[in-house]
Amino acid sequence: MTGRIDHIGIAVANLDETLKVYTDILGLTLHGTETVADQKVRVAFLPVGDTEIELLESTEPDGPIAKFIEAKGQGLQHIAFRVDDIEAALAELKAKGVRLIDEKPRYGAGGAKIAFLHPKSTNGVLIELSQRD
Ligand code: ZN
Repeated sequence: MTGRIDHIGIAVANLDETLKVYTDILGLTLHGTETVADQKVRVAFLPVGDTEIELLESTEPDGPIAKFIEAKGQGLQHIAFRVDDIEAALAELKAKGVRLIDEKPRYGAGGAKIAFLHPKSTNGVLIELSQRD
């Protein structure tokens, strides 16, 4: 179903401050930032090999990332797998009994088609599927 990790999503309270860790200290290059209004999130992209780190900062106190940090603190939030055909992947997973957060794909950062699987179906990890055309 998937051949690679598309990105790793990390929830942060302060994007500009956290970026210093990944650029100044770890030596990664900031590829850009984007605000996804739908998700109430500002995202910074930092490529690493053929995948990337995405730092996620909530733009609203009631956004999903704000709620995540409130419940679990800052840190690893989700892992995204790249798929070629997200509709087919969702149908396959549903048929295997996986609980889906998104029955239908929506648009995420970078214009990718994305969908989340419920962490209860994956023993605790929030998994995203991502299709980039
Ligand atoms: Zn993501």
